Amino acid sequence: MPGSSGSAGGVTTWRGDESTASPGAPPPPGGGGAPPAAGPPIPRRGAAPPAEPLEPGTDVDVTLAYAGTPDTGSFPAGFARVGWQPDDAGGWFSMAEPDGTSTWVPSNDHPSDKATWSFTLDTPTDWTGVANGRLVSRERAGDRIEWRWELDRPIPSYTVVVAVGDYRLEERTGPDGLRIVDAIATGAPAHLDEVAARQDEVIEYFTSRFGPYPFEDAGVLVVDAELSVALETATRPLFDRYGLEWALAHEIAHQWYGDSVTPTTFEHLWLNEGFATYADWLYEDERGTTPLDDDIIFSGGGSGGGGAITDPDEARTFAETIYTGGATALHALRRRVGDDAFFDLLARWADEHRYANADTNDLLALAEEVTGQDLDGWRRDWLDAPDRPDHP
Ligand SMILES: [Zn+2]
Repeated sequence: MPGSSGSAGGVTTWRGDESTASPGAPPPPGGGGAPPAAGPPIPRRGAAPPAEPLEPGTDVDVTLAYAGTPDTGSFPAGFARVGWQPDDAGGWFSMAEPDGTSTWVPSNDHPSDKATWSFTLDTPTDWTGVANGRLVSRERAGDRIEWRWELDRPIPSYTVVVAVGDYRLEERTGPDGLRIVDAIATGAPAHLDEVAARQDEVIEYFTSRFGPYPFEDAGVLVVDAELSVALETATRPLFDRYGLEWALAHEIAHQWYGDSVTPTTFEHLWLNEGFATYADWLYEDERGTTPLDDDIIFSGGGSGGGGAITDPDEARTFAETIYTGGATALHALRRRVGDDAFFDLLARWADEHRYANADTNDLLALAEEVTGQDLDGWRRDWLDAPDRPDHP
């Protein structure tokens, strides 16, 4: 959906060519933490089909007028709500993965449907509007500010983020001229500025391991809420008041593995979570905080069942197995092929599938090309088996 745009001020309508959903009341301009006014949710379907059948391969511009009262989504995660939701300080933000973006903007929440994005956010003057990518303008008109953000690299909709509320924007230049814009809720703990400053060394370290950082922009978004999860929203990962300290490296690693190289379907989610978990372990080992072997042992090494990593029906899509089992499988691969071939593989994986989609078969094909080895046994033992070996 190239050029998708959303107005997070609480617009409401989904309009096809002929039908118009009844608009809901816009939310109160000053926030205040009240739940959204009752109104029709944005329908998941509703655009009218084109008048003439489209020829395959034809480029078509589609303009969707829409409005609705954004709400949370349907994803049954016990620990977090997905979709459009209030923070604890009167603001609002979106939690996207896996299907939360379509709660506030027409989107196809499938990881293979990537798009560039531009956002126009209309807020009161004492609020800040935050989104992915680059802040290209902020224009004040009377008692409102219009914030425009753009990201001209294609990303899956589950990595889209919008937040409006009481934020400080800190702008600076990072490694290799990277533009860093941090958006930290004014009610968040003050020491988070120091944690956010660690982005530079995290990005530099991962660049040395995985190749160039895949975007031109970076930063963190810290919302004034308690979520128990963080999310790798592209260029500007989302954290709650506490998440920055435990999830910073993990979410930055996802910029390579997940946001740039995206699984074809969520069945291959281990390509995100196993990689980001392993990257986090590498970084903690590099910093000297936790030796890599301790992480592997403490996590159980992925053993003890939990289902096959490549069979999410068995393992459950966001199960711990996908994270630590996936990371341990990567460590087993590293032990088997050696450091040089392993890190060559990680960098080529990021490079050859940049901004695209790939799956487990693609990884195996590249791994066998890079190493010259038959890796069917590794796949069978570490990815496809419901019970993995005790230790790599
Ligand atoms: Zn993750």
